[in-house]
Amino acid sequence: MSSASMQPLPPGVTFLAPQIPVHVFLGKRPGPTSIVQAGIHGDEIGGSHALAEWLEDGVRLEAGKLLVIPIMNPPAYRARERAAPGGLDLNRCFPGDPSAPERERRLAAQFMALVLAERPALVATLHESKKRYDPQVKPSFGQTLVYGVTPCPPVLTRVVASLNDEASPEEHWETLHYPVATSSTEVIVEATGCVGTCVETWMGFPERRRIQMQRRVVGLLLAEIGHQ
Ligand SMILES: [Zn+2]
Repeated sequence: MSSASMQPLPPGVTFLAPQIPVHVFLGKRPGPTSIVQAGIHGDEIGGSHALAEWLEDGVRLEAGKLLVIPIMNPPAYRARERAAPGGLDLNRCFPGDPSAPERERRLAAQFMALVLAERPALVATLHESKKRYDPQVKPSFGQTLVYGVTPCPPVLTRVVASLNDEASPEEHWETLHYPVATSSTEVIVEATGCVGTCVETWMGFPERRRIQMQRRVVGLLLAEIGHQ
């Protein structure tokens, strides 16, 4: 499909070109639209596996529309590298260019067209960080919900409060203002005014626990946006 002609997607599985599966769900009631994607960085697997397990278990949506993209950058994921071998950092290619020679810039443009067609209330991008968050160390993201606008969207503050209520102190979460000009979140929020966040688990935790945390964050975000 060309980016210029993209329409809101029907339920089921569809594809961005290059071939990126997009799982589309409709709730029982009308409501907001959210897009949750992971694997834009191929070595940050917690979010990709959280979304894959969620899809296998069966996504139950009460209201609205949900688009799930477990692996945004498959060659990077297969290589377990931030970017595909010889490729660009996809999260520094937004808003992209549909006629660019680089696959990443074309894919970014496709994703932007999808976002503009769907007009989501929330775009969540699942990442992981090798560095535990420390306000003195920039950059460091482990266990944060990153946002690029001020003030912090209240949804994110509430989700972090819920996470800290139920998790052990060592899994402490924070909100973090850290705008990145060409990142998907930044460009999408600028273009649509939606709530945008990068979910960053700390890679010092075991993989199984990071997958659980990613899934929990997504569940809390979707509940706050009004899907449950
Ligand atoms: Zn990342």
